Amino acid sequence: MKSEGGRYWNRRVRDLKPYIPGEQPRGERLIKLNTNENPYPPSPEVSRAVEALLHTQEAGAALRLYPDPACTELREAIAARYGVKPEEVFCGNGSDEVLAFGFAAFFESNEASPLLFPDITYSFYPVYADLWNIQYKTIPLNENFEIHTEDYLIPSGGVIFPNPNAPTGIAVPRAEILCLAEYLKERNRVLIVDEAYTAFGRASGTEDGAESLTPYIADRPNLLTVHTLSKSASLAGLRLGFAIGNGELVEALCRIRDSFNSYTVDRLAQAAGKAAVADASYYEELNRRLVRTRGAVSVSLKSLGFQTLPSSANFIFARHPRFTGEDIFRRLREKGILVRHWDRDRIRDFLRISIGTDDEMDVFISACREIVLD
Ligand SMILES: *Cc1c(COP(=O)(O)O)cnc(C)c1O
Repeated sequence: MKSEGGRYWNRRVRDLKPYIPGEQPRGERLIKLNTNENPYPPSPEVSRAVEALLHTQEAGAALRLYPDPACTELREAIAARYGVKPEEVFCGNGSDEVLAFGFAAFFESNEASPLLFPDITYSFYPVYADLWNIQYKTIPLNENFEIHTEDYLIPSGGVIFPNPNAPTGIAVPRAEILCLAEYLKERNRVLIVDEAYTAFGRASGTEDGAESLTPYIADRPNLLTVHTLSKSASLAGLRLGFAIGNGELVEALCRIRDSFNSYTVDRLAQAAGKAAVADASYYEELNRRLVRTRGAVSVSLKSLGFQTLPSSANFIFARHPRFTGEDIFRRLREKGILVRHWDRDRIRDFLRISIGTDDEMDVFISACREIVLD
């Protein structure tokens, strides 16, 4: 049906297989557990900062002028929070943009040394690879759905994975990632660790939670950690992400950005992000609460016969031996509850359930009980 404008598509557009984001329903009153948004509001400092920006003496000036392309104050706030230098921080329009720039900056089109990532992982990675024409090879998770880092000690063009992995929620031990970083460093390759969910691992207080690799960038110039304010900082609507790594890795990302769009982070996002990053204690409390809910939901699901993978994230990946994933997905949808399901090998029978408020999760568990006892 490409009868009119479609005939003008170039080859690149014709070949694209874009990422499909989780549904954002409009109007319908659904319990939304499908895109890992935080159910709690952002820090009150965030709205204070936005209001201060909009109601300064020169009202309107804030939005009349271009933002600081270098995000200087925001990077200083992030650097202070993570104990790094501002030159080691790069900010972008959501971590998706930071990741897209990372693919463009560090990975090549080379069949002999393809980029490596897990077979089951964030489904944006193959999309970026195809967009930039980067050859890649997927490495299967082991039978427990874990990333086995030794499988990545082979010739490659670099490695990327989330820690904890998505959509499994399973964390990779820090010592293993450091070994992999060392191996890649000797071979002049970059390791990107996507830390979208790391804050939920740490908050659990358990031994097996994911730990940030950020403190280790100092003597690993090939290690880049990527962070987002969308999940742990309740700011998915703001679109703010950042990377932390060696100053020259950051410079590479700046070179890509400035060959594309110098102003990817607007003034509202810079002000709000700075306030959020500075209010660590608010978010620690919030995410502790979320991790408690996660524990309770996991116990309830197991009591209903679900198998759950051990999650260090703000979601649970679960399946029920008597139902297909599709079936439970559909029945939950009929009851007004939205979760995420992928029609893909190995994970077809799983559902990814984002952790909502305690009240939302009570409704969810009741719905699951009705479904499995039906
Ligand atoms: C949600 C998510 C992102 C994207 O976050 P944004 O900052 O909202 O673009 C990146 N990586 C993983 C693994 C995610 O789940």
